[in-house]
Amino acid sequence: KLSSRITHITGGGSDGWSVHYRALALKASGAPVTLLSMGEHDTRTDPSILAAMDAAARGGNTGYSPVPGFPSLRKAVAARIERQTGVPTGPDNVIIVPGGQAALFAAHHAVCDPGDTAVFIDPYYATYPGTIRAVGAVPRAVLAHADNGFQPLRADLDAAAKGAKSLLVNSPNNPTGAVYSEQTMHDIADVCRDNDLWLISDEVYDTQVWDGTHISPRALPGMAERTLIVNSMSKSHAMTGSRVGWVCGPAEVIHAIHNLATHNTYGVAGFVQDAALFALGQGAAAEEAVAAPFRRRRQIVMDALAGQNAVRAAPISGAMYAMLDVRATGMSGEDFANALLDAELIGVMPGESFGAGGAGHIRVAMTVADDLLADALRRIASFAGTLV
Ligand code: PLP
Repeated sequence: KLSSRITHITGGGSDGWSVHYRALALKASGAPVTLLSMGEHDTRTDPSILAAMDAAARGGNTGYSPVPGFPSLRKAVAARIERQTGVPTGPDNVIIVPGGQAALFAAHHAVCDPGDTAVFIDPYYATYPGTIRAVGAVPRAVLAHADNGFQPLRADLDAAAKGAKSLLVNSPNNPTGAVYSEQTMHDIADVCRDNDLWLISDEVYDTQVWDGTHISPRALPGMAERTLIVNSMSKSHAMTGSRVGWVCGPAEVIHAIHNLATHNTYGVAGFVQDAALFALGQGAAAEEAVAAPFRRRRQIVMDALAGQNAVRAAPISGAMYAMLDVRATGMSGEDFANALLDAELIGVMPGESFGAGGAGHIRVAMTVADDLLADALRRIASFAGTLV
């Protein structure tokens, strides 16, 4: 018999992924499906980063590496976070882990005991409730309402925080494309201080901000000692397959996660770390080059839907996604996504697959070429128009 901890990892959300799997199967059978359901760049890792990885591997960096990461990479990550937050940050505040998902797991494992309540915001990235369950904690969702631009409200955060141990936030947000305002971030920080919560800040889309600037809560007064930043090279450098990321927080927490990693991942491939160090050394211009297609496409989505009533885009302030409100059609996001796939061979994610807060929406990933995206958006708009 399997442990209850592992059997409870999955669950939560609706069956909304079935339309995605149907779109994949149709495409595999040769149908000309436009897939707008995948949260991954349509470009690959830059060749210069691959060259650095290749040189490192051929140069012999294929053995065990230090479990918490090479000091040089920890230092480079710490310097990047210090530049973003203004908070003194050193290598002892950073541990290198195999990607953002491993960072989410490690952060929750470090601060939640079995049975503790861990709060997250709905709509949410698909793995959140399962990650919380995987460490034995109990997930508690707080709704961020579509009609509030998917920004959580102070009163809802206050109610959810009672008796909880941690709060997980993600700005820029997958799936909603929201970037939390200064007010929202201050509310989040106040709620964490007032209720003595750990704040786990998933910043994997920190380079993809189209309106305003990225605010890390580590920068807010009194928050550095209770914030764990989770981040990775996946979205910022199109390195999803390389599995390299980090947790940043107080040195005692990083030390504890080092102990966890010793008994779990045992570090990240050395040649991948060398490639990550090279990539970070390319600075902000290289990050902007990876983000640029999404900045362009966000405008394409907004232009294609301007003046439409049957389908409206929620504010696309960051990340590679657009949440489209289809409530005017009277359909659920799931029914709309299924009908759209049948009628137009366009695959999108139902908003419900990201939690109750996504009801009546579909998520479009802006991860196809500009002309394909523009054409798909025109077809989505005219299809929605036939339903009202
Ligand atoms: N957090 C969010 C919000 C994501 O969208 C993703 C991936 O899509 C991850 C974490 C996981 O990132 P990684 O690929 O670095 O594990």
